[in-house]
Amino acid sequence: MDIQLLTRKIPIGISQCALGEPVRYNGGHKHSKVCTQLLGRCFDYVPLCPEVAIGLGVPRQPIRLVKSSPAADAEVRVIGVEDKNLDVTEPLMEYADSVVPALEQVRGYIFMQNSPSCGLRGVRRYLPNDHGIDSEGVGIFAQRLREHFPHLPMEEVGRLNNSEIRENFLTRVFAYDAWFRYVEDGQDAPRAGRVIEFYSAYKYLLLAHHQQKTRELGQLVSNARALEPREFAHQVRGGIMEILAHPASRKDRTNALMHVQGHLKDYLDKEETAELTRLIEEYRLGLKPVSAVLTLLRHYLPRSPHQFIHSQLLLAAEPAEMGFCDFH
Ligand code: SF4
Repeated sequence: MDIQLLTRKIPIGISQCALGEPVRYNGGHKHSKVCTQLLGRCFDYVPLCPEVAIGLGVPRQPIRLVKSSPAADAEVRVIGVEDKNLDVTEPLMEYADSVVPALEQVRGYIFMQNSPSCGLRGVRRYLPNDHGIDSEGVGIFAQRLREHFPHLPMEEVGRLNNSEIRENFLTRVFAYDAWFRYVEDGQDAPRAGRVIEFYSAYKYLLLAHHQQKTRELGQLVSNARALEPREFAHQVRGGIMEILAHPASRKDRTNALMHVQGHLKDYLDKEETAELTRLIEEYRLGLKPVSAVLTLLRHYLPRSPHQFIHSQLLLAAEPAEMGFCDFH
């Protein structure tokens, strides 16, 4: 598989207030420098503020998630804090439905946390009597978009300050973008051969994120004929995105690196094998960064004639090394 490097920024949806625009209920913003200055180097943002878009204006009274009762399956609506007759549940959902065509081209979405419209997780919920009941809600706009785009990489602004979460989000965005450039390019139905090649190139990176789920996905891929091509592609794409959403553990990444080493064993002498084994062990123990192992593996890679190992995204998995954007 030959995935072309990017010559453009990747389109990403984002809560408009994160870009520093004064669209919040109080006329303020929540500018994120990580989004504008760091990720902005490789992302081309599509900013949306659902509350302004449905006509609530700036400034506006705050709204919040209200559960009809404490029951687990009770209905949740978005209600005004001051005027309880203000119910914007349907307008927010209809707005989400209306932007779906414009968002077909985005390859990720960054939502503002704690918002009854945009929050992805842990949004405060209340009962009709104003008592807070829990912090397990999801913003109505975010939830609706998740239903429309179940595999789209999504993350919250605040969590992107954490470098591991940020790297994981980038890995998912790059994979999702590569999928649409290589497998589903908007032409005909996705070809099973392309799906299988894509999975093969990601195999060791997927192993680094979740071994068991990667094996299960491998069984699905080896049974391509059992499904109609579009359904097959949909299920494999979902499997890949689900696996990449798991953080890559040191243990699983060590295992994946050892798989790569196994492919190179016939092309290394005794000293080289010993050095590589020692380096992988030092990585496993937390004494060396993964980049040290990847650098040595890439040094030996040209000796192998096998295309399978040359195409492994694991060997270029770190965003800074993928050549897509310039991170320091
Ligand atoms: S969190 Fe969402 S709805 Fe609230 S101001 Fe930001 S973009 Fe607008």
